[in-house]
Amino acid sequence: MPTCGPGRGFLWGPGTEEQRRAPRAHFQQHLKAPLPAATELVLVTDLDGTLLEGTVPNRRRLYGWLGSQRHRILQVFSTGRDLRSVARLLAAEASLGLHPPHLVIGDVGCTVACGASLTPSPLALEPIEALWRGRAARVLPLLAGLPGLSAEPLSSDRRLAYAIDPRRLDRSRLPAIEAHGVDCLVSGDKYLDVLPAGVNKGSTLLGLLEWLELDPALVVTAGDSLNDLAMFETGLQSVMVGNAEPGLVRALPGLPRTYRARGHGGAGILEGLRHFGFGHLLAGLA
Ligand SMILES: [Mg+2]
Repeated sequence: MPTCGPGRGFLWGPGTEEQRRAPRAHFQQHLKAPLPAATELVLVTDLDGTLLEGTVPNRRRLYGWLGSQRHRILQVFSTGRDLRSVARLLAAEASLGLHPPHLVIGDVGCTVACGASLTPSPLALEPIEALWRGRAARVLPLLAGLPGLSAEPLSSDRRLAYAIDPRRLDRSRLPAIEAHGVDCLVSGDKYLDVLPAGVNKGSTLLGLLEWLELDPALVVTAGDSLNDLAMFETGLQSVMVGNAEPGLVRALPGLPRTYRARGHGGAGILEGLRHFGFGHLLAGLA
């Protein structure tokens, strides 16, 4: 399976002898809610523009179905939001029936947390923190001089996230910042994320699959913006939803395992699941 960034196994080190013997059991100790005993699908969805995109009736239907499938579908939210923002979202969408997922990949891959408690996993975070150490101090002065960024980072959990004015941001200045051991990712013409080099939604997902000893053939990812491209580049089965941003659509010819859905948001996810042969799991969809 092709990998993105530095590749499989890069993020999460070999750990202790006990962790090496039974990584899944060790990881499970950090989770409040149990993972499915027999996983039939690992569904990894972006939030804004993807899982959250759709009419209220369609979202109720999708969320209700996801809630009823927790015993066999391992659900992962993979988002640019930080954990505080995910907590607010879960509280707001609960009225529509959205259940917390089993796991959250937040901060564009820089955070992994239990979906039920939103407690970060130290196993996943330590190597990312090691890569991030000292980077913010180096790049903050450079970012302060860059026109088109909001004055303060929106989030600073092992990354720096800014709202941007795409007309004023001079992207030709980003490589000088990346020379300091970071990746600069512009997505949706709205956000700039400054991430530890090589860390993204794709690299963190691959680390997670390894720890949980999950078969990559059971995984489907879904997303709509350029911060989802790294998931699609892993070579895992992926769904680019119908409302994807133009920059992501332009990348499609280089993504042989990515299905371009016609449906927007949640409808696109369901269309993609049928495409990849998981239609039998949708039988209970009201
Ligand atoms: Mg999105």
